[in-house]
Amino acid sequence: MIILKNEEQIRRMKTAGRITGEALLVAREMIKEGVTTKQIDDKIRQHIEKCGAKPSFLGYGGFPGSACISINDEVIHGIPSKDRVLMEGDIVKVDVGAYIGGYHGDSANTFGVGKISEDAQKLIDVTKRAFEVGVAAITTDGGRIGDIGAAIDAYVRENGCSTVKKYVGHGIGADLHEDPNVPNFGTKGRGPRLCRGMVIAIEPMINLGGDAVVERPDHWTVVTKDGSLAAHYEHTVALTADGPVLLTKVD
Ligand code: MG
Ligand code: MG
Repeated sequence: MIILKNEEQIRRMKTAGRITGEALLVAREMIKEGVTTKQIDDKIRQHIEKCGAKPSFLGYGGFPGSACISINDEVIHGIPSKDRVLMEGDIVKVDVGAYIGGYHGDSANTFGVGKISEDAQKLIDVTKRAFEVGVAAITTDGGRIGDIGAAIDAYVRENGCSTVKKYVGHGIGADLHEDPNVPNFGTKGRGPRLCRGMVIAIEPMINLGGDAVVERPDHWTVVTKDGSLAAHYEHTVALTADGPVLLTKVD
């Protein structure tokens, strides 16, 4: 069941979104060689709690961190650890959510540590652009969820990368994950109708190699099957009378 949000609810979601976006900026500031993913997670948690919010991911399904921090071939759901130290050339995905006023925000970005390879930079750029292409495909007069994924996947394939199929974006609101699923692939004109009041997390997960992913034995970390690099980019997007609004965008 898709739960539409009224203006007041979207206003509240904007607050959750702002804190979420700020938490990502806090993470971005910290990205450098020698920093551990636990240190980044601690700072993210401090920021969210200082704002009077709760980290959406902490304890979600038993997840032990406030953010998912995934490095290089790790696609999503990396567990922050005092033993994971960032190294020059790494690409780091930080995925974070904040809960306040009864609503969640959810956003992710990929950051390079120092000088990164041309391939890594291309992957990061393609992933962000894929998100933008997905948002640009949204119309609330006859549009469908499949329009978003079809646009994203076509762009990603044109650029020689591949779209993860096993994990998808989602509706978001009072629950972190609501209907509908928002795949990063699909068929234009298919799927649930896009309408005003929908709030969805659009989050392309893009691999430099093949699209297959596997879960590590820790039962959380998802990695590319072929060991290739992966990138992730996500915002919480409200479909309003004025068009799509990125609730988690703060910079
Ligand atoms: Mg997320
Ligand atoms: Mg999400």
